[in-house]
Amino acid sequence: MDFSRLTLSSTLADLSTYNFEVPGETLGQTVADQFETHAKLPGVIISDQGQISGAFSRQKFLERVGRPFGVEVYLRRPIKIMLQSIEDRPLQLPSSTPIHQAAQVALNRPSTSIYEPIIVMFPSHLRGLLDVYTLLQAQSHLLTLGYQVEQNRRQFAEALQKTGRALSGTLKLQEVTERVLAELASVVHHERGAVLLQTDDRLEIISQRGFPDDERVAEPFVSVGTSRHDVYQRMMRTLQPVLLRDVLAEPNWAHFDWLPLHRSWLGVPLIAQEHAIGMISLTREPANAFTADDASLVLAFAGQAAIALENARLYEHIIQFNDQLEKMVAQRTEELNKAYTILEKLDRTKTDFIKVAAHELRTPLTVVKGYTQVLSITPAIKEDEGTSTMLEGIVSGMNRLHQIVNGMLDVAKIDADNLEVYPEPVRMEQLIDRIYQKFEADLETRQLTLEQEASLAALPVIQADPELLQKVFYSLIINAIKYTPDGGKITVSGKAVTGEGEGTPPAVEVTVSDTGIGIDAEHHELIFEKFYQTGELALHSSGFTKFKGSGPGLGLAIARGIVEAHSGKVWVESPGYNEESCPGSQFHVWLPVA
Ligand code: ADP
Repeated sequence: MDFSRLTLSSTLADLSTYNFEVPGETLGQTVADQFETHAKLPGVIISDQGQISGAFSRQKFLERVGRPFGVEVYLRRPIKIMLQSIEDRPLQLPSSTPIHQAAQVALNRPSTSIYEPIIVMFPSHLRGLLDVYTLLQAQSHLLTLGYQVEQNRRQFAEALQKTGRALSGTLKLQEVTERVLAELASVVHHERGAVLLQTDDRLEIISQRGFPDDERVAEPFVSVGTSRHDVYQRMMRTLQPVLLRDVLAEPNWAHFDWLPLHRSWLGVPLIAQEHAIGMISLTREPANAFTADDASLVLAFAGQAAIALENARLYEHIIQFNDQLEKMVAQRTEELNKAYTILEKLDRTKTDFIKVAAHELRTPLTVVKGYTQVLSITPAIKEDEGTSTMLEGIVSGMNRLHQIVNGMLDVAKIDADNLEVYPEPVRMEQLIDRIYQKFEADLETRQLTLEQEASLAALPVIQADPELLQKVFYSLIINAIKYTPDGGKITVSGKAVTGEGEGTPPAVEVTVSDTGIGIDAEHHELIFEKFYQTGELALHSSGFTKFKGSGPGLGLAIARGIVEAHSGKVWVESPGYNEESCPGSQFHVWLPVA
């Protein structure tokens, strides 16, 4: 019997059965004859007008014939006697019974012989005869088949899992497609394979295996046909694999003459977000080489590959986008650099102008100053009160102008990195004291107090240029005076600090605090730029130490330049600007001791 046609769902109907007529009068002899001519006949059923009345297995029949009088009783008597001596209840099963179930029933039945017949009942009045042996053989074939199916399933699941792992390990499109093809080789046998992805109306071959070494393989595009018969169009429409058993039978099949002819073709769509994004194409040389099972396997495989491919594609977009961004940033940086160079040039021009202007102003200033000095000792002027008061005004204006010109020269030096520092031991307390003396009269007029905390005296002697440092604290104190309303208080304090970071030499921090109008946080850095002021311009050149009488905006720029030339730092802290509540400001100067 040929079991190869059986599948796991086969029934008794799939097993061929014996069936023949036995005349009633000569039953015994006929049965014996039948057993002799049909070596494989498992037994007989005895039926009477469509009704089954009994059955003999070959073994039982021969056994009984062999007994004393067996021949007499079983071969020479009419059917009636024979029927009486039958003890067997034949096993009757409908033809739709699955083979494995039938085998189970047959095995559970107490019996001495596996040749025992089974009556298979077909939906019509037909009956067939089957033996247990054949049934068990079929059953064993199915068990092997089941094992193989199970084995294949496991192998495929393993391959899928492996592919999943391999695919999640990379985001490079090329690598992903190559791995897809490599893993696919262990799932479905094929001779040529390719992964194609769709861009616009073209399919691009991203990876291929088994193609001949031909330069035309390098032309990686295949255009998508518009015809409904185009295989890719068909796949896009149905999202199902297309299996061509023989491409020669396909009227629309486009074959490249440089490619060896492969007659079987299997195309499986790569589906991402319910759309075909490309396909896997496999070929084999003979016709009819791929099965529907192969198509299902590749489809399951393609499902996983498509996700990885889509991820890789998205990743590639991100990379491209990133490149674009980087280019844009580089372009902007270049533009900024250009603008910066221009600004730098402008700033240099400004510094040059300050320098030239200051120098040019200084000469006539010195001349005017000389003459006013001569005038001040001229008796006619000394004796006239009105004229000498006017002269005093001229002198003080000259001094102010001189100071401004000097400031301009300092700024020019700082900008050009030309500030020369001559360090010598400096006592902060003495330095502040000298400045205090300069402002004593102004402080009194403005009813301001300037307190020097005892902590100043306790500071270590530092190495610094006293003349330059004087300018720093002069600016800080004069600003404190200018931006503190009458009756306010200015405090100068100091503390010895260790340098920043471990092992750095010690330093001092001197703080000038006031109870003035304060500074908004947004200006904390900007006020150290030259010519920067927060106040209203109209007030600028009003009085020297008057409330809010600001200068040209150079004081803090010079202060920072000098402090930095001493490897120090200067910064401001203030809760904000408010002329009513006067939150005050604190200017800190940090200077290394040596
Ligand atoms: P200016 O010659 O205008 O005083 P500065 O460089 O000394 O120039 O100061 C810059 C600006 O910083 C000033 O115009 C003022 O607005 C602000 N400023 C400086 N010191 C103080 C302070 N103690 N309190 C409030 N504002 C201040």
